Parts: sequence; structure tokens; C-alpha cells
Amino acid sequence: MQRRTKIVATVGPASDEPETLRSMVLAGMDMVRLSLAHGKLEETLERVTTVRQVADALGVHVGVLADLPGPKVRAADFPEGGVMLVEGSIIDLVPAMPGDRSSAEQIPVDHPTLLQELRDGDSVVLGDGGIQLLVVDVDDERASAQVVIGGWAQGRPGVALPAGRLTLSSPTPEDLRLLVALAQVGVDAVAISFVRAAADIDVARAALPPGPAPMLVAKIETQEAVDALDDIIATADAVMVARGDLGIRCALEDVPHYQKRIIRSGVAYGRPVITATQMLESMVRAPTPTRAEVSDVANAVFDGTSALMLSGETAIGHDPVNAVRTMARVARRAERDFDYEGWGRSLGRAQAAEAQEAPVSVRITAAISAAAWRAATDADVAAVIACTNNGATARAISRFRPTVPVLAATPSLRTARQLSMAWGITPVLADWHDTTDDIVWFAVKAAVESGVVDVGDLVAVLVGSPTEPEPVTDTLRLVRVR
Ligand code: PGA
Ligand code: MN
Repeated sequence: MQRRTKIVATVGPASDEPETLRSMVLAGMDMVRLSLAHGKLEETLERVTTVRQVADALGVHVGVLADLPGPKVRAADFPEGGVMLVEGSIIDLVPAMPGDRSSAEQIPVDHPTLLQELRDGDSVVLGDGGIQLLVVDVDDERASAQVVIGGWAQGRPGVALPAGRLTLSSPTPEDLRLLVALAQVGVDAVAISFVRAAADIDVARAALPPGPAPMLVAKIETQEAVDALDDIIATADAVMVARGDLGIRCALEDVPHYQKRIIRSGVAYGRPVITATQMLESMVRAPTPTRAEVSDVANAVFDGTSALMLSGETAIGHDPVNAVRTMARVARRAERDFDYEGWGRSLGRAQAAEAQEAPVSVRITAAISAAAWRAATDADVAAVIACTNNGATARAISRFRPTVPVLAATPSLRTARQLSMAWGITPVLADWHDTTDDIVWFAVKAAVESGVVDVGDLVAVLVGSPTEPEPVTDTLRLVRVR
């Protein structure tokens, strides 16, 4: 059996050579994340091309997730290798000018109105919360701050100003410009940072150019997003537990609880959930992870996450391939002890309770995917095959976490790539046909060719009525492969 939990790895300067990418795919990377907060657009587009070439040469479907910067305020670049900010020392924060660099004495911040918004006594956090500064004096030219908690500052760390001081809205005009350019080159998914309400996703969707759309991934990294969780999940195509910023904007001890809640709701809605940030953080430098990190990855699998994400470990780390391999190994081991039965049963109960209020198409999909799960559990079924154009049917069955393999038979290469963040789904390409019988026949054929099912196996096939004005998955067939 293949690993069920998918791995999303951030590609950056440490991993953008074709040979490294190739090794990362072979080590278990299912999807690539490209962060626009760090890379420029042209550089990102070049990386998209490289990833596609590498995946094509290997004959695998690797999705690309482009991550928009959002309204995050950042410091200017620190010198290569980073700078130690020493506890007790005084640093000047200044509005950044083009070409500025950060040092241990001065940090230019990418926010023109910085000095109007900071006051004495404000706490300012750098990066993912490691470094804390206390503002001690503000004048027209700079805000002086004392280092309260020191540490290594590297790259372009985020600068978190006191909550509520800045009314940042997302997506920013720059995000929308990037979104259009990314959609035009056909990236598979785009993540939106600092979402606060479902309306933020609507704004992004409305800005998409005509043509095949990328999936929109809502990053849950503010308290407002946690408070509006269900609305955001219903509106987005996928969600990310963005623990880095979440841990700055909410109480740190809330993060593991929010993680569980976001995963449960996301999966119940059939949205892939990516658990992100600091999963194997020490592997940025070290050849082995800490025991705590190994436990964290395994626990995210037990929580039911669809995908696990690597950030700095693969973008700037010393051994990106090793980080992917380690994550794959830990995930695989955790999957052996995952409570599949319990998960499927409680999801079925939750759906039955919600059924009254849902629109009829949602109820049909819920009923038919629950029936497929029952069949996979009770009958001696070797695999579930979801026939799908846009991937929704495959995600609908995958959320039950069936123990048997789930294949998505799709005519769309894009759908195949988009499923690279969905739990437990192996995409297989099958030609488009316009009768239910033909769709089933060719899907089973593709499944046999993929080697996942054999002649004599019983398979459960989920399929729609292609000629209905609004195609909905309404049929479950148990087929004996011959
Ligand atoms: P980032 O998002 O790495 O783009 O900040 C993830 C997070 O905040 O955890
Ligand atoms: Mn973030």
C-alpha cells in the first residue's frame, strides 16, 4: 500500500536544482510549495517550469502550490548566514528603502507608516516568534527597541506588530496581481495568507482569469479565521493549518487544539487540510529530527491531516531530500496505527446529523460516498475507484479515510495534479466517455493498468450521470474485475 498522507515540500534556494527536485520526488514529495513571500514572481515561474519538467521525466503527477505573501510586514534581508540579536541590545527599526539590508544595529521594515503606528512599550516579534523586541523610544526617524528574547535572525523574517494596531486586509492588490499571473501559467493551487473571512476567498476567486482555475487554499493563521472557520472552509477549496503565524496571533497553547479542529472540519467538508510549519524544523541544520518533531508529525497523521508540509527544512535546509525521506518514514509508520474505522464511523454520524439542512446535491454526494465507504468496509472490496472530472468525488470518499486504496480516474491532468494534496488518493488518467457504462469500464481498465487492482478483485466504483444538466455523483457500482 502506498503512503496515504501526502507531503508538500517548500522549494527554495536549497532545492531548486532539477537533480535535487528529482531526488525529493523519489523520496516522497507529492506537491511543491513555492512561497512568493520569499521568491520573486519570475523566479517562481522558472521553478514551476523546472518542477513540471522533472515530474514529466519521472512520469508522476506533482502538484504546484504557490503561496501568496499577503499583507505580512517583513524585515529587509539579513546577511547570508544570519545575525545574532543579543538579549539586552538596542536595535533601530526604520521604514525600509529599496536595497536596504538588516544588521544587528538596524532593521529596515517593509512598512512605510511604521513610525506612526509604533509606540513606547509595544512588543514586536520577529520570525515565527523566536525573537522579541520591546519598543523603548520612537521619533521621526526610527523606533528604538530592546531585544527581550534574542536569537538568530536570517532571511527576511516577518515582523509582527501588536495585534489590532494594523488593519491589514487580504488578499492585497499585489496578491491579486500575482494570482492572475500564477493562474495564467496554470499552477494547480494558490494559498491565500492571513484570510480573516470567507469574503476574502470570494475576492480572490472573483479576480481569477477565465479558464481552468487553481484551487484556493485558505491559510488559517489569524484568530478571526479560527472564529469564522466553517464559513471559510465551505468557501475555499482546501485549508492550511499555518501554525507559524497562528502561534503569534493566538495563544501558543491554543495551536494544537486549533489544529485538531481545523483538520476535523476541513476533512468533513471534503477539503484537503495541510498541516504546516516547523514540523521537522531542526532538520534545517541537523541530520536527524528531535523526538518532539517526530511525535508532532505522527500526531498530525493521527489528527487526520491530508498532507504534511515542510518549509525551511527543504527551502533553505542543508539536506532537503533527507527531510522529505524522514517525513515520509514517520508518516508511513503513523498510518499503521491510525483509527480508520473510528474516523469513518464518526464522520458518517456527523453527516447524518447535518443532512437535513444541506442542499440536495451535497446530500446525494454525502449519501453515495458513505455507501462507498460502507462497501469498502463490509464487502471484500480491493479498492474504491472515483470517476471524477474536478476531483470532488475522490475527495468526498477520501474524507472517510477508507483502509483500501482510493483511485481517482480522471481525464484531467490538472485534476490529477490537484489531488497531490488529498489524502490517500492515487490519480490515474482515463479518457473521457459520455455514458456511465463506458466511464466505469475505462476507469476499471485504467485501475488494472496502474497495478493497484487485479483480475478477480471486487472494486467499488463511484460515478455520475454525465448527461444530467448538473452532473452529480449518484451511482455506486460493485464490479468484479474480469
Ligand atoms: P508562511 O505561512 O510560512 O507563509 O508564513 C505558514 C505559517 O504561517 O505557518
Ligand atoms: Mn504565515
